[in-house]
Amino acid sequence: MRNMWIGGDWLEAESGDAFDVENPATEEVLDSVPRAGAADVDRAVGAAVRAFGGWWKVPGSEKADLLHGVANKLREGKDAIARTMTREGGKPLLENRDEVDWCAACFDYYAEIGRNDRGRVIAPVREHQFNFVVKEPYGVVAAIVPWNYPLLLLSWKLAPALAAGNAVVVKPSEYTPLSTLMLSQVFEDLPPGTVNIVTGFGETGEALVTHPDVDVVAFTGSVETGRRIAKAAADQLKKLHLELGGNDPFIVCDDVDVDVAAQGAAFAAFLNMGQVCTSAERFYVFEKVADRFLDKFSSVAESLRLGDPMGPDIELGPMVSAAQRSKVERKLAAATEEGAELVTGGKRPEGFSKGYFFEPTILTGVNHSMRLMKEETFGPIAPVMIVQGIDEAITLANDSKYGLGASIYTNNLEYAMTAAANIRAGTFWINDPLTDNEAGPFGGMRLSGMGRELGVEGLEEFRDTKHIHLDYKIRRMPDWFPYDWSSIK
Ligand code: NAD
Repeated sequence: MRNMWIGGDWLEAESGDAFDVENPATEEVLDSVPRAGAADVDRAVGAAVRAFGGWWKVPGSEKADLLHGVANKLREGKDAIARTMTREGGKPLLENRDEVDWCAACFDYYAEIGRNDRGRVIAPVREHQFNFVVKEPYGVVAAIVPWNYPLLLLSWKLAPALAAGNAVVVKPSEYTPLSTLMLSQVFEDLPPGTVNIVTGFGETGEALVTHPDVDVVAFTGSVETGRRIAKAAADQLKKLHLELGGNDPFIVCDDVDVDVAAQGAAFAAFLNMGQVCTSAERFYVFEKVADRFLDKFSSVAESLRLGDPMGPDIELGPMVSAAQRSKVERKLAAATEEGAELVTGGKRPEGFSKGYFFEPTILTGVNHSMRLMKEETFGPIAPVMIVQGIDEAITLANDSKYGLGASIYTNNLEYAMTAAANIRAGTFWINDPLTDNEAGPFGGMRLSGMGRELGVEGLEEFRDTKHIHLDYKIRRMPDWFPYDWSSIK
């Protein structure tokens, strides 16, 4: 049993309740963690409130040193952390090692950006005055995250929230608490209570959302949970930052190297078994290149090495859970009943008696009346539609309630820029699917969320704004009482 980390102490749930964490590749129980209730959440929030007073006042340069220290410790612990991430989450080891590196880069970035400014000085409305716009932390941030990139999505909240001077209570996904608890070692030099980790299910997250001393809820997860959080936070008009689901389009024009576009498509569709918020979930391919694209796309999909994610040379591990795989299977069955045709995949692979494995799957014969094309799948399913040109591709890409990301493969500047200007998405990739850059904002339009992570925008999410007026020459102002009625004719 691994305990929770609250105020620098390792604690069980007050109720004594705990739950098991499973390896999705072997179906073995790895360990168990406490199932935190409202009393445990209250304890963690209390520790954060106490730590906040001190952490806020830590000078910028010292805070920067401490956050660079976090980045260094992440790199030192990379191998062990990545192994735990792989065992509990099912993502291949190589990808988890990369994820830890990206977390470290995020802490290094915000260590510097966080001390770069505390606001601005604006031109005053009168002589002898200064007007300062001061940026302050909110107080206590609840960071509630999913399992697919458990530490990266957490770092995108934690690093800017801490750099801005907030204290944080973290609630990892019930599928990936073990690697998150390992972070206690990377935060050990920060004052106790600055970062706290509580483990549990939705009810633990909800106790955080409704706790009166939590000032900001920063959430990444599904649209459904995002809605629930928004409703639960409404009574207290709590500040929310929501990074939600997507159903990203991917356009392939007729002027590109189709082999490269198909390899990019396979990466965008099947990385982490399609369990990426910005996975490409709908493909629109110009008719002229459609056959060649499908040939190459399916041969890449069939060549991907599936297996125990701890093993060398493995490109695809299992899905995270039995429930997630069943959801994808149901969606696929509904689409094939409605006329979708399998090009490759579509079933559990042979040779695996355990683990939530599924074959990377490509479909044709799809249309926008199918749920598959309208709702997030979050699995290794790639439906392909043939289009007659860029206008049709853009119209179909926008026929969605989401707006997280979108990709295009083309050398045609007019196609690329017309699509970039007209497709509603928080990130638009031209010939470069799924790349992130911690210096640039990430987030969604429409149902895909509100707010942005990363970049200076990501820091602003965790800083409140105060306008300070200062007059250094005390005097009676000409517009005070008594009014000068003689000025009115
Ligand atoms: P989820 O919404 O089921 O859970 C996310 C987190 O919220 C978990 O920690 C969960 O325990 C917690 N939670 C559940 N109910 C809650 C409640 N009522 N109140 C507070 N917290 C609650 O999502 P998931 O299955 O873990 O992750 C997959 C989803 O996340 C997909 O929809 C995916 O697109 C989305 N996602 C979005 C981004 C992004 O940046 N936009 C990134 C990754 C994943």
